[in-house]
Amino acid sequence: STASSNGAPSFTNVPIIKFTKLFINGDFVDSVSGKTFETIDPRTGEVIARISEGTKEDIDIAVKAARYAFDFGPWPRLPGVERAKLMMKFADLIEQNTEELAALDAIDAGKLYHLCKALDIPSAANTLRYYAGAADKIHGEVLKASRELHAYTLLEPIGVVGHIIPWNFPTAMFFIKVAPSLAAGCTMVLKPAEQTPLSALFYAHLAKLAGIPDGVINVVPGFGPIAGAAVSSHMDIDAVSFTGSTQTGRKIMEAAAKSNLKHVSLELGGKSPLIIFDDADIEKATELALLGILFNKGEVCVASSRVFVQEGIYHEFEKKLVEKAKTWVVGDPFDPNVQQGPQVDKKQFEKILSYIEHGKKEGATLLTGGKTVGNKGYYIQPTIFSNIKDDMLIAQDEIFGPVMALKKFKTVEEAIKSANNTRYGLAAGIVTKNLDIANTMSRSIRAGTIWINCYFAFGDDIPFGGYKMSGFGKDHGLQALQKYLQVKSVVTPIYNSPW
Ligand code: ADP
Repeated sequence: STASSNGAPSFTNVPIIKFTKLFINGDFVDSVSGKTFETIDPRTGEVIARISEGTKEDIDIAVKAARYAFDFGPWPRLPGVERAKLMMKFADLIEQNTEELAALDAIDAGKLYHLCKALDIPSAANTLRYYAGAADKIHGEVLKASRELHAYTLLEPIGVVGHIIPWNFPTAMFFIKVAPSLAAGCTMVLKPAEQTPLSALFYAHLAKLAGIPDGVINVVPGFGPIAGAAVSSHMDIDAVSFTGSTQTGRKIMEAAAKSNLKHVSLELGGKSPLIIFDDADIEKATELALLGILFNKGEVCVASSRVFVQEGIYHEFEKKLVEKAKTWVVGDPFDPNVQQGPQVDKKQFEKILSYIEHGKKEGATLLTGGKTVGNKGYYIQPTIFSNIKDDMLIAQDEIFGPVMALKKFKTVEEAIKSANNTRYGLAAGIVTKNLDIANTMSRSIRAGTIWINCYFAFGDDIPFGGYKMSGFGKDHGLQALQKYLQVKSVVTPIYNSPW
């Protein structure tokens, strides 16, 4: 059975919540309205803490602080190496607080505590270090405009950036946005997701301790349609960098267009295929497929929610996959033996369950799972549907939960066609030892990341972002810096130029 220690929260790791207010211009402050909202422990549905709720007025104040810090403050004017030093300090402080930060994300988002401690938090420190290393290597080019003209480009920070981030990776999302924009010399207002404000406020505190000047990083928790919309429609924010659902991305782009045409980058939803060919090691392939959909309880934009398996191994693959799914341990995310914690909140929990019901009605075969686990909190069994048709809702919509759509295929052509039969294009996985197949598939699938014989292989230096309705603009890599820079061309005549 998938049930284990669900229901009885282990209080041993539950952190004391130190930061609950908005962080603006270097201080923790109450919201203008004095309003607060609850952040919930998804293991129980109980309140962890009340957080100051930012509204339009608070976003305005935060933008003023960021504007002042950009127009008059030291940050954009510092030599890159000086920005780098402070970013390195910030990274060290994160590492010194790893356990507390891991506990904050675990309790706020239902993420596995031990994985946060081993992976999410240390990786965030390294993301800062990666971009710190780039801070003094941002430069334009000298151009040979013509015989009479000398021209060069400057790469200037874009200005005040608005970051709007989701709840599934509260720490990683914070730093894939904040680190490159810091390196570029921008100032920023970040709105964490209303489900997971806790670690973002802690990071604001650490930024101050590290010596990042006041007004450079402002963190304003609040709700999407209120605080988030105030960011995307603000007249004095120069760029907005968003990660979240495609539906919300569309609203953000619309708000940007209707306000000041701020630059927009969107990292949105996915329905990523994992394609397993006959020559695959079945044991390894089943593990990859399970991890691909169950990692972080399926609350992953690149989750391998569609799994296509070639007919020669299909039967054995399906049998092994279901056996393994049944032994997958769902329960308290602080328990080191648990593999899958609760979904982030009631809304997501109910949305996933309604997709499961829909899958049954559409005529897909429920191979395993489909039910909730325990009697409190937001736990769902690993769920696998087979006999999928490409046009079923559960093969088209991003479910964002532990629900796999499994399908048999015959030929490479058929696999390509199914893989691309989606409005999304975030990632894809291919499992084969055949180089020709791997090459053909990599070129044919319209997605921003292709993983061959692996999945979830991320790196600070590997650009990440979508094709099609999965968005545009890259996070990670030196490419991400481009979102926070603009190119200025400087032109001047030389010798007896007619100009
Ligand atoms: P989900 O529906 O899974 O919570 P969203 O894309 O709505 O995903 O949420 C991602 C982030 O976008 C969160 O910080 C959320 O508050 C914010 N958000 C939601 N709606 C809007 C909106 N209309 N304008 C700006 N930001 C929003």
